[in-house]
Amino acid sequence: MTIRTRFAPSPTGYLHVGSARTALYCWLYAKNKHGTFILRIEDTDRERSTQEAVDAILESMAWLGLDYAEGPFYQTHRFDRYAAVAQQLIADGHAYRCYCSKERLEKLREDLTAAKEKPRYDGHCRNLINEDPNQPHVIRFKNPTSGVVVFNDGVRGLVEVENSELDDLIIVRSDGTPTYNFTVVVDDADMQIDIVIRGEDHISNTPRQINILTALGAKVPQYAHIPMILGSDGKRLSKRHGAVSVLQYRDDGYLPQALLNYLVRLGWSHGDQEIFSQQEMIASFDLQHISKSPAAFNPEKLLWLNQHYLKSLPAAEVAEHLRWQMQRLGIDYSMGPTLEDVVRAQCERVKTTLEMAERSRFFFTDAVVLDAEAAIKHLTKDIKPALKEILHRFTSQIDWTAVELHKVIAAVAAEFSLGLGKIAQPLRVAVTGNTVSPSIDLTLELIGKARTLQRLEVAINHIG
Ligand code: GLU
Repeated sequence: MTIRTRFAPSPTGYLHVGSARTALYCWLYAKNKHGTFILRIEDTDRERSTQEAVDAILESMAWLGLDYAEGPFYQTHRFDRYAAVAQQLIADGHAYRCYCSKERLEKLREDLTAAKEKPRYDGHCRNLINEDPNQPHVIRFKNPTSGVVVFNDGVRGLVEVENSELDDLIIVRSDGTPTYNFTVVVDDADMQIDIVIRGEDHISNTPRQINILTALGAKVPQYAHIPMILGSDGKRLSKRHGAVSVLQYRDDGYLPQALLNYLVRLGWSHGDQEIFSQQEMIASFDLQHISKSPAAFNPEKLLWLNQHYLKSLPAAEVAEHLRWQMQRLGIDYSMGPTLEDVVRAQCERVKTTLEMAERSRFFFTDAVVLDAEAAIKHLTKDIKPALKEILHRFTSQIDWTAVELHKVIAAVAAEFSLGLGKIAQPLRVAVTGNTVSPSIDLTLELIGKARTLQRLEVAINHIG
């Protein structure tokens, strides 16, 4: 028997990086134990769930490479099952129909609040005898009235909650739809989940869920609640702190490897190791080293990791992400250097694939747009003779490699008694339109001979 874990997002918006971390931890746990990772879409809240959000979850999971062996399962496809289980609970005396009116519940709440007590249902309909199921009602779980729910949380350790703290939870609403705590329990039981790894915001639901599982005669899984992610101000990480959606990071030019590496360390540690390949993460992941305190999201560290992966992953792999960016930006990369060569030329100089794509447009255009300021500063009358000489020599240059082009530039610089930099920058502006590019010889090699000659001519004419 292999262990089974699940990630159970609610499709009510983009996939938040906090949820992505939960997914990652579930996935790593399963992979580490050669277990089964399941994706379950908790879409019972029909008002807040959207197909767009479902798509965003699936797209984010695919982009991150978090593959699932089973699913995606959708709770909205299982309403018959939830209804049947609710009826079974009633038949077994573990649940009951509650006919209390809104007004009664409102009054109850007011009275308890006035008495400075926690608002809770008072069990008014627990033992009705002559009830009429045709009357509007909800179904409540008969929570035990005494005793303690105890569970050993994989992160927090022993958690104990008195049953007297819990009330009779609604499991089916008056419109017949099941509630969150109920669907989770039915699913975790039916899907034979061994361990539930989820955000700490669910820890207060756990005792209720354990009680329902017990009433169903189902196995109670192990639980591990992972601390929240905070923004720099100590508040729960949200849009106010910047990008929080996984797909936003993709669009902004982050590599999935960098985001995963960042998230794995955000709240979990393995000695002082910072860089983890996927294999290393899987091999070393454990619950014991998940931190008990909330972690603060640090965008600079994520950016640093992104740069690390841009430089260290095989160029061919980064090139695929660059290709995606190019397509997204509408840059036609069909004529020009290979994207792998672009990656090799740019990877030390940029922090994201978005920056890489934007800074590489000039490799692929037929006519560069000269930046006005750069042109005024660098394309001067003084430099014109040297540029003309370079154009002249380049025209008959056969060996169009960085090494050979460097020799030509150095020779012309010497001839005109110019430092190499004094000529490299005007040349760069001439062929890229701007002042930033990889080393000039490599830039020229990648632009290619025909485009270089044509751009040089345009620049010389521009000087007039
Ligand atoms: N659907 C819940 C959420 O997105 C998670 C429930 C669970 O993991 O048990 O917060």
